[in-house]
Order: sequence, then structure tokens, then C-alpha cells
Amino acid sequence: MNLDKKTLAELKTRLLKEKAELEKNLEQIAKPLDKKSGDYETAFEEIGTSKEDNATEIEQYSDNFSVETVLEKKLQNIIQALQKMENRTYGICEKCQKEIDLNRLEANPSAKKCLKCE
Ligand SMILES: [Zn+2]
Repeated sequence: MNLDKKTLAELKTRLLKEKAELEKNLEQIAKPLDKKSGDYETAFEEIGTSKEDNATEIEQYSDNFSVETVLEKKLQNIIQALQKMENRTYGICEKCQKEIDLNRLEANPSAKKCLKCE
């Protein structure tokens, strides 16, 4: 890998920051099932028992569910990127096994594939 220590440390800092932000956002709409792997479950908020309340609950749940799914996916990508840093496999394309362009990693530190394979 041609990433120097300084660049790697910078990318790691950015990943950790993004991870903390995502966790904060997720915790507003979901319960953590397994924090280590970034697994969350959308919270179902009880508003009331009338038909209208029930409809609102379901609507809110499905809104939260879509947001939760996106955030969870992002969080899991970041967790995997951090694990790869530990295993020294960070910055390698999952498909062609070539090094991912540094510009691409700078733009998206949790990128798993190179531009060609994406
Ligand atoms: Zn590739």
C-alpha cells in the first residue's frame, strides 16, 4: 500500500468523526443492536391509539426506517474501512485488488472499490 502514515491517520480521523456523527443521528431514530458491527433497529414510537395516531406512527416509522437504512449502511462501510486499516488492507479495491486512487479515498474515505470497478 502506498499510503503514508500521515495520510492514513488523517483518513482515520475523518472516519472516526463521521462514525460518531452517524451514531448520534442513528440513536435519535433507532436502537443499537450491535454497536460493534453498526447494527441498528428502527425505533417504533407510540403516539396514541386512535386510527389517525396509528397511521402517523406507521408513516413516521417508515420514514425513519428509510433514513435508518441509509445511515446504517454508511456506518457499516466506515466500520469496515476502520477494520481494514487495522488489518492493513485499507485502500485496496475489493473487486480488482488494486490500490484505490488516493484522490478517491480523500473524497470518500470509506470507498471499497476503485473508480473502474464502482
Ligand atoms: Zn477495482
